[in-house]
Amino acid sequence: MNDTDKKVVVRIPPSPTGAMHLGTARTSLFNYLFAKQKGGKIILRFEDTDRERSKNEFADDITVGLEWLGITYDEVYKQSERTEIYTKYLEQLITDDHAYISKEKKKDVGSAPSTGSGQAGSPQGEGEVEIVRFRNKGESVTFKDEVRGNITFDTTDLGDFVIAKSMTEPLYHLAVVVDDMEMEVSHVIRGEDHISNTPRQILIQRALGAPQPIYAHIPLILAADKSKLSKRHGAVAVTAYKQEGFLPEAMVNFLALLGWNPGTEQEIFSLEELVKEFSFSKIQKGGAVFNVEKLRWFNKEYLRKLPIANIAYEAKQYLAKYNPSDEMVALIAPIILERIDIYSDIGKQVEEGEFDYYFNKPSLKKEALLWKDTSTDDTQIHLKMVVEKLSALDQWEKDEIKNALWPYAEEVGKGNVLWPLRYSMTGRDKSPDPFTVANILGKEETISRVQAAISLLS
Ligand code: GLU
Repeated sequence: MNDTDKKVVVRIPPSPTGAMHLGTARTSLFNYLFAKQKGGKIILRFEDTDRERSKNEFADDITVGLEWLGITYDEVYKQSERTEIYTKYLEQLITDDHAYISKEKKKDVGSAPSTGSGQAGSPQGEGEVEIVRFRNKGESVTFKDEVRGNITFDTTDLGDFVIAKSMTEPLYHLAVVVDDMEMEVSHVIRGEDHISNTPRQILIQRALGAPQPIYAHIPLILAADKSKLSKRHGAVAVTAYKQEGFLPEAMVNFLALLGWNPGTEQEIFSLEELVKEFSFSKIQKGGAVFNVEKLRWFNKEYLRKLPIANIAYEAKQYLAKYNPSDEMVALIAPIILERIDIYSDIGKQVEEGEFDYYFNKPSLKKEALLWKDTSTDDTQIHLKMVVEKLSALDQWEKDEIKNALWPYAEEVGKGNVLWPLRYSMTGRDKSPDPFTVANILGKEETISRVQAAISLLS
């Protein structure tokens, strides 16, 4: 059987020691895309051998995150429920003289080389412990990496590394190798921080007579300053983005392009399209820089694709303090859409009073009503004309309003008419055009606000 005939089985193996990290989401996505493309199987495996740091709430957070992103899986395991299996293989390794029990001072255990979950315990007082070490003959290890090509390691320096804290407490490397073997994992797609773990895992595979999976180590997600993305750069938890109101489609699209690109100019991809297009050969070797502005850009693209009723629905929650009618919300929704990248932007703008004038009469400053050096008297005359023309309208739509005012505005100077009109309705230097605002406010309210401005000028 060659590689291409083999049934594809991938694993999503998060350590539930924290809320789901963006990096975990991205790695999970790549595994999903590859497996779906190949008609393969996806295993979700909680690597919770580190009993102190692993928490059910984090496993739940990861489950929720995957569901939100639309990343499905076929089977779920928890390493903490598989202790007997690891013990069985530890016994086998010891019997075959590939591993041995070593009596050591407790504090030495912590110095064992290990990363990821299941780090050897930190020293807690004195006393002797019986740990299990792998008998490392220092073979040279070569593996083919789908992203980086052949990678060779001299394993001599790794020494007899620790594979279990006791017969019932396996460490990360052992648990991963046993599981990948038992679960018939064909492809290991993971962050490149695991490249250095691969030789130890291959040595254990060889000792167990396990097949070697195909590896694909994907570039790390970096912050703008090119250091590894961490909390000090902003939110790294997927659920934080969910709470901020990002759309899962935008997040998926964004994450897919963190380290992978289609080789074309196309940027917008649905999950189905990504499944079709994904390939290891288009994964980059260098780090993938996380840029929240880009994520916001994607989100806006996806917001624009939504029915406007969805925007209105969200907007209504944020505008609740104004108790707006559905009609009003429907009218404002397109304006809101233009001004936001994510839903929570609505909340910020509501707080800043950005939409206040749609619901409350603005307080006006007399001088602010005058366009450039137009006189008070002239401005008053223009606004009176506006009232006259608007009062005559039977239809109150944006185009009618514009058509009613436009010839006059052109005649006497657009700014002279449109500026005081817009300001009298909004009390703001910036807002959408006066026809749009008047349309939303309605005929009666518009005229009443313009009249208030006229009185102010008297
Ligand atoms: N549990 C490891 C982690 O969260 C992943 C191990 C692996 O992919 O082999 O980093």
